[in-house]
Amino acid sequence: MKIAVLPGDGIGPEIVAQAVKVLSLLQADGMPLETEQALIGGAGYEAAGDPLPEATFKLAQQADAVLLGAVGDWKYDSLPRDVRPERGLLRIRKGLNLFANLRPALLYPELASASTLKPEVVAGLDLMIVRELTGDIYFGQPRGISTLENGEREGVNTMRYNESEIRRIGRVAFDIAMKRNKKVCSVDKANVLETTELWRQVMIDLAKDYPEVELSHMYVDNAAMQLIRAPKQFDVMVTGNIFGDILSDEASMLTGSIGMLPSASLDENNKGMYEPSHGSAPDIAGKDIANPLATILSLAMMFRYTFADMATADRIENAVKRVIAQGYRTGDIWTEGTTRVSCSGMGDAVVAAL
Ligand code: NAD
Repeated sequence: MKIAVLPGDGIGPEIVAQAVKVLSLLQADGMPLETEQALIGGAGYEAAGDPLPEATFKLAQQADAVLLGAVGDWKYDSLPRDVRPERGLLRIRKGLNLFANLRPALLYPELASASTLKPEVVAGLDLMIVRELTGDIYFGQPRGISTLENGEREGVNTMRYNESEIRRIGRVAFDIAMKRNKKVCSVDKANVLETTELWRQVMIDLAKDYPEVELSHMYVDNAAMQLIRAPKQFDVMVTGNIFGDILSDEASMLTGSIGMLPSASLDENNKGMYEPSHGSAPDIAGKDIANPLATILSLAMMFRYTFADMATADRIENAVKRVIAQGYRTGDIWTEGTTRVSCSGMGDAVVAAL
C-alpha cells in the first residue's frame, strides 16, 4: 500500500500531519503501508517554480493512492495563471485521469445544530454525491468567445458526453449504492438537453446490470430544491460535471461544517486522490486550530475505495464518531458545553480512540 502524501499549503501540513499519525498507528499494527511526501501548490512553486513539480507527479503516478491537504494562498493571487497553486491541483486530477468525484455529506447527530437547516430535516443525513469530473461543458469543444459578423461578441461552451463516459461514472454510482442502501438518483435535465437525454437512456440501460438497485431520475432544478426540502430521501446521487459541481457544494452545506467533509477522486482502477473538501484556509494557517477530521475521514475513504479494506475504513470512521460523541471539538464546530481542542489535540484524540 503505497501512499503519496502531499500536504500542500496553508493548513494543509497541519491537517495532513494528523492523518499521518493515524497511518503511523496502522503501520505499527502491522499494516504494510509505505508513505512518501512531496510538494504541491504554492510549496511546489516556491521549491521548484512549478505548482506540480515533475517529481511530485511521478510519485503520485507510482503510488496506489494520494493523500492531499490543500493548496493555495492569497499571496500567490498575482502570479500568472499557469503557476498558481490551484493549477497544480487541476493538472494532477487530469494527469491521473480521476474521472469520478465522490463527495459524501454525512451529518453526525451531535453536530445537527451546526446546520442552517432544522435539525429534524438534516439529522441522520447520509448522502453520497457521485460527480463526473473530466467531461461535460467544462471540457467540451467548441468553446470560446468570438466576434460575430455584426461586431457583437458571442460566448460558446459545449455540453458533451459520449456513452462510455456516462456508463463508467454510472457504474461507479451503482457499485457504491450496492455497498450502501441500494438507491441511485440520476440527476439530469433530459426535458431540455439532449446530452442529458442520452445520460438518462444510458443510466436506464446500466440499471439492468444492477437489479437490486432502485434507480430514479430527477431534473436538476428539482434536485436543487429537494436537497434543501428533504435531503434524507437520497442515498447515492449521480450527475455530470456542472450539475455535480453545484449540487455537491449545496449538499456539503447541509452539514454546516466544511471541516468535516472528505472527498475522493477515482480513476478506472480505483486508484484515487483523497482530500478534504475545504481549501487551505490561510486565515487560520499555522495556528494549530484547523479541523483535521475531513482529512482523517478522507483517509478512511482511501481504505474503503482504493484498498477495499472496509474494516479499516470503518475503524477510522468509528474513531471519529467516538471523539465527536466524547465532546471533542475544534473551534469551527465548538458549542457551549463541549471540549475545545487544537488541530493536533484532535489528531491525538482520534489516535487514542483508534
Ligand atoms: P477555504 O475552504 O480555505 O476556507 C473557507 C473558510 O472555512 C475559512 O474561514 C477557513 O478558515 C474555514 N475552514 C476551511 N477549512 C477549515 C478547517 N479544516 N478547519 C476550520 N476551518 C476551516 O476557502 P477560501 O478561503 O475560499 O480559499 C482559501 C485558499 O484555498 C484559496 O487560495 C483557494 O484557492 C484555495 N482552495 C483550495 C482548495 C483545494 O486545495 N482543494 C479548495 C478550495 C479553495
